[in-house]
Amino acid sequence: MNTITQQHIQVGEIANGLPLTIPVYRIKGDGSGPKVYIQANMHGAEVQGNAVIYQLLEQLKQLSLKADITLVPYANPIGCNQKSGEFTLGRFDPITGTNWNRMYINHSGLVAEFVEQNPTLPITEIAQQFRQRLVERTQALLDGPLDRLTTGKRIALSLQRLAHEADIVLDLHTGPISAKHLYCPEYAKDSARYFDIPHVLLIPSDFDGAMDEASFCPWWNLQQAYQAIGREIPVLTEAFTVELGSQEKIDLAEALNDANSILSYLNHKQAFQDAHFMPRDITRYVCRLENYRAFYAPMGGMVEYTAKLGEHIKAGQTIAKILRMERYLSETPLNEIKLDEDAIAILHFASASVNQGTELYKFFTQVETL
Ligand SMILES: [Zn+2]
Repeated sequence: MNTITQQHIQVGEIANGLPLTIPVYRIKGDGSGPKVYIQANMHGAEVQGNAVIYQLLEQLKQLSLKADITLVPYANPIGCNQKSGEFTLGRFDPITGTNWNRMYINHSGLVAEFVEQNPTLPITEIAQQFRQRLVERTQALLDGPLDRLTTGKRIALSLQRLAHEADIVLDLHTGPISAKHLYCPEYAKDSARYFDIPHVLLIPSDFDGAMDEASFCPWWNLQQAYQAIGREIPVLTEAFTVELGSQEKIDLAEALNDANSILSYLNHKQAFQDAHFMPRDITRYVCRLENYRAFYAPMGGMVEYTAKLGEHIKAGQTIAKILRMERYLSETPLNEIKLDEDAIAILHFASASVNQGTELYKFFTQVETL
């Protein structure tokens, strides 16, 4: 049995003086594998990742580990307690309105100087020394004047500091009502074959404030900068956002499937000795981010969502019925909404009542197989 250690890291304090803390679990391997960081529940309602971390810990404590693995459930101690009535909110900071997953910082600015100072450094040294700079720069921001960081930034940077220690970063989210899908940087496309996730969204290596991007962008830029001086190195870190399914739901049996999917990927990355985890033989559909289509409600009303998530929709197929009862005597009360192209339905809005312009669905279009 491996030893699991627990630490509580303070990421802020609230008005009555109580500390905001996150639980950090660590399991150490024999040092010959990658360093792995997995966090869950940055968005308050997206709770299933906590169950996946539970199922991961249950298995990791019995495996022969090469990798050092750090797991952080309840990554956002404000978000998961942000309730309104019986529902959890927690997608946006309630004070500033900023998305909790857009407050990480891009350290790609460290790249140019590092490459200039270390043009011929061996790859293992590059990995170690650049990683150290990322950690130190993040720590310096946390140690800086207290009046420089917002509540959300302090939480994000505390998590980012932990993530920068790792070669592999997984940020566990869910959609609103959603099929499983994976946000995968284009350079790491081949790794998507090892997750049991049938829908893969390929994202460019740009930075928009999310954890996955904060984790891989500096490494992607480092690879590009070495290439520019005529030296080929791999991108030394992989980071993914794993969208597990729907929000406001814990399903322990499904969490075990998702844990096995993650273990299959980690096994491919040499995290274990003699482990049996293999990807399932499924078709994986790929969509580029620019073809990930948001479909906004063409009218307000009460919605029956008729497209099943993961379903392959044909152009002209009805995807929703919108009920308008104030029109019952005068006009058409029931309106069929159709899609004008072939697509895969990935997620839909969580509520049945929508305003005109609400994001009703998101679809993979121009789909290919991996
Ligand atoms: Zn999320």
